[in-house]
Amino acid sequence: MAQTPNVIGMAVMQRLKETGVPPTPENYADCYYEMSGLPRPSAQPTDASATQADTGFQRELLAMLRKMAQDMTDKTEALANGLDSKNKDLSENVTNLRNSRDKNEILRLLSTVVMQAGGIQNTVESSHKDLLETRRALNVLHEEMAETRQLLNEDALTGTLNRRGLDQTLGREIARAQRGDGVLSLGMLDLDFFKKINDQYGHEAGDQMLVHFTSLIKSIMRKSDALVRYGGEEFTLILPDTDARGAQFVLGRLQQLMSKTPLNFEGAQISITFSAGIATLRPDENGHALLRRADEALYSAKHGGRNLIKISD
Ligand code: GH3
Ligand code: MG
Ligand code: MG
Repeated sequence: MAQTPNVIGMAVMQRLKETGVPPTPENYADCYYEMSGLPRPSAQPTDASATQADTGFQRELLAMLRKMAQDMTDKTEALANGLDSKNKDLSENVTNLRNSRDKNEILRLLSTVVMQAGGIQNTVESSHKDLLETRRALNVLHEEMAETRQLLNEDALTGTLNRRGLDQTLGREIARAQRGDGVLSLGMLDLDFFKKINDQYGHEAGDQMLVHFTSLIKSIMRKSDALVRYGGEEFTLILPDTDARGAQFVLGRLQQLMSKTPLNFEGAQISITFSAGIATLRPDENGHALLRRADEALYSAKHGGRNLIKISD
């Protein structure tokens, strides 16, 4: 029987792990096509960038995940339907058995009922095995996605850019701003007393708060803006074509949104504030100096009492 993509994908990951080959997109693809015997899609142009290869790899993983989720849904549905009709037959026969006074009829119904009950048990057992197997494969893929995200310069928890992504994006945006007359602002944001959330509600709540915070930021930022997880609970927001007042306006809106949108964690409504420093790019300034000024402004917001937005002068 032909192997499903998820089965091949799992075998590929297993082989890469066993042979100590790093799970780069190229190695994954080589191994995938070798093991599956499937024809390779038409070759990428030789100058295709690494980002394109990474994106292709991620798309492939996502397609696999989607296929597995679909398999799981199909199996669950088939199980539910199968059990429903088998259950009906069984209960009909049990009713007949109860009402029957004929010895031969009773014996016939009894053996039918025993067979039907066995059939249901088999269906449940094999479906249970299938579902466990699919769930295990999904977990492996989930871990692989986290590693892939590293390759894609993304933070695994929040899906924002990571530090490596910051270097690339900031470098590119500064070059663009300095080429034209572009103005560029940078916001450094840090959650206030974040440690207390971990202490009071646990690390899982802290993680969820980080995801909540980034999703609120994403909901108000423009397509051309970029969000980076700078470290722990500190984020950098790159705002092209935005002056200091514009950046202050955006962060002010975020403050309002945060105050109205607490995190719901296991029934508890958890609110948090953030402090921010803003710096606007000076002519001939590099990324390092821009980040340092934003960081100094953030420091002054913290020392000014937190829940504040300060602009570097
Ligand atoms: P301040 O207002 O001065 O910024 O106080 P704070 O508590 O936010 O800052 P502090 O630097 O004292 O503590 C940051 C905490 O963030 C400590 C660390 O355990 C936690 N943290 C860092 N990364 C993560 C993470 O990924 N998940 C969780 N749950 N906590 C994290
Ligand atoms: Mg903090
Ligand atoms: Mg911090």
